[in-house]
Amino acid sequence: MISENLKKITNSIAGYTCTLVAVSKTKPVSDILEAYQAGQRVFGENKVQELTEKEALLPKDIEWHLIGHLQTNKVKYIAPFVSLIHSVDSEKLLSEINKQAFQVKRIIPVLLQIYIAQEETKFGLDKTEALALLSEIKEKYQNVEVKGLMGMASNTENENQVKMEFRSLSEFYQQIKEKYNLTILSMGMSGDYKIALEEGSTMIRVGSSIFGGR
Ligand SMILES: *Cc1c(COP(=O)(O)O)cnc(C)c1O
Repeated sequence: MISENLKKITNSIAGYTCTLVAVSKTKPVSDILEAYQAGQRVFGENKVQELTEKEALLPKDIEWHLIGHLQTNKVKYIAPFVSLIHSVDSEKLLSEINKQAFQVKRIIPVLLQIYIAQEETKFGLDKTEALALLSEIKEKYQNVEVKGLMGMASNTENENQVKMEFRSLSEFYQQIKEKYNLTILSMGMSGDYKIALEEGSTMIRVGSSIFGGR
């Protein structure tokens, strides 16, 4: 089942330059191994404790991404191994990632999470805050590398609204990517990744369409 789902999604993104992050949150290690055996190497989790537990049990060539809101006091647990943090939504968090990366002698790749949805509940920076942060990161935070932007569209049936939210993030990304050397635009989940791809996503985070509902 999991390998068939993976194959379907991989086929549907074949015409795009896009990385699939398999979001395995709440799913058992056996499910992740099944996806691994089908060739998937990039996995995303949103809880630090769950991520560290799974990382310890699974093959070392898995790339682990942290995709959800991250509390500063938990950064230290993932700093030794995390491949990409998608959800930098404050300078305080960025500064802590930098500090913990220094402790383990790493440069940790991150994305800035940009607020694009209409909903009040979504975390993220606005574009002005992101620009302010980008302009000072290289000098102030030498153990993080900002690779790109991440955004979540509103959870709505209105596809046009979702498309416009992705488009606004994509336009912002296009405007700044050369200046700041950005290569990743992380947008799109199970319900909206096809729209995200049409709007220029280079990384989709797909959970339930691979592993089933949670
Ligand atoms: C859970 C989650 C996803 C995946 O959601 P699905 O709808 O299951 O594909 C993607 N991104 C983030 C930030 C998530 O928390």
